[in-house]
Amino acid sequence: MKRFLCLMAALLCLFPVFGCAAKMEEYTFFAMDTFITLRLPGDAQKEAAEAERLLLEIENSLSRTRTSADVYRVNESTDGIADADSHLLAVLDFSLQMAEVTGGAFSPAMGALSDLWNINGGGPVPSPEAIEEAKRHADYRVFLADGASVTKTDRETKLDFGAVGKGYAAQKLTEYLRQHMDWGLVSLGGNVGVFGQKPDGTPYKIGITNPKDTSSPMGYLLIEGGFVSVSGDYERFFDENGVRYHHILDPETGYPADSGLSSAAVWSRDGAKADALSTALFVMGAQKAMEYHREHPGEFEAILITKENKIILTPGLVWGENFLADDRFRYPQ
Ligand code: AMP
Ligand code: MG
Repeated sequence: MKRFLCLMAALLCLFPVFGCAAKMEEYTFFAMDTFITLRLPGDAQKEAAEAERLLLEIENSLSRTRTSADVYRVNESTDGIADADSHLLAVLDFSLQMAEVTGGAFSPAMGALSDLWNINGGGPVPSPEAIEEAKRHADYRVFLADGASVTKTDRETKLDFGAVGKGYAAQKLTEYLRQHMDWGLVSLGGNVGVFGQKPDGTPYKIGITNPKDTSSPMGYLLIEGGFVSVSGDYERFFDENGVRYHHILDPETGYPADSGLSSAAVWSRDGAKADALSTALFVMGAQKAMEYHREHPGEFEAILITKENKIILTPGLVWGENFLADDRFRYPQ
């Protein structure tokens, strides 16, 4: 069973690669709708159990479907809740900032549109009228956090932290784990976080999924620390009349983002930022994403894969040095 779960995790996520020499234990469990893998030094059962508890705590706050979760309660309320917990407050505050700086490409208020598209349930494609109606309830500015209160000025607008919650969780897990051990890796459905130096002294090697063949990586990112998140049109989608409808929606159009990219992977020192930005850059497309990178120096690096399966790197990544891939995937310079 454990082998099966690990295989599933590898298929569903980025591909962290480890040498065999490291004395390492792997822990796998299921939470936040995804397989989660921890790779830690030997004898870390206690910490792995605490990490799992922490994850469930985060899920119990950010879930859209658990009736006790704060996000669910905000979404079902008329005008908000007065007793939000620290996870919701932190993620909402951060998400509202990210929505502003990305010009709304990332938005925490996509709940009504996500529900309408029902990507996980296989559609169907909604009518243009229904999309217009859902878009009227997708403005993140209706949310306001003050102390422990979260208020909203539109009853129908719903929070959806699908694009940031796992990155936030990866961040929280590594913050906890690094207090107890020298190094480690956490992997949650397309989000990887690493800390400390691996025993063999080499960088962490993170495989980047090939959108055209998701069973194998098309390149490897070498990192010493931080977080990598990927958003891809191959992760969740349904096909209707030969057209693929994926789960990353363009808040401006209300349709799956059609920006010329098949995936966007982001490295950042901050887990929630890597996650939110991978979604935002996917929505922006290559040109705007590169502009955004120029305007936010030092904050992140990105690997953009076009629909033609060509790789574009932000300038902090160097082909053949900290990013390795076959030259045939290289975007013409
Ligand atoms: P990710 O895989 O991190 O890019 O997150 C995608 C998920 O976030 C979707 O399944 C939706 O729940 C939600 N989402 C879709 N489009 C957006 C968007 N433009 N901004 C923020 N969240 C989104
Ligand atoms: Mg994301």
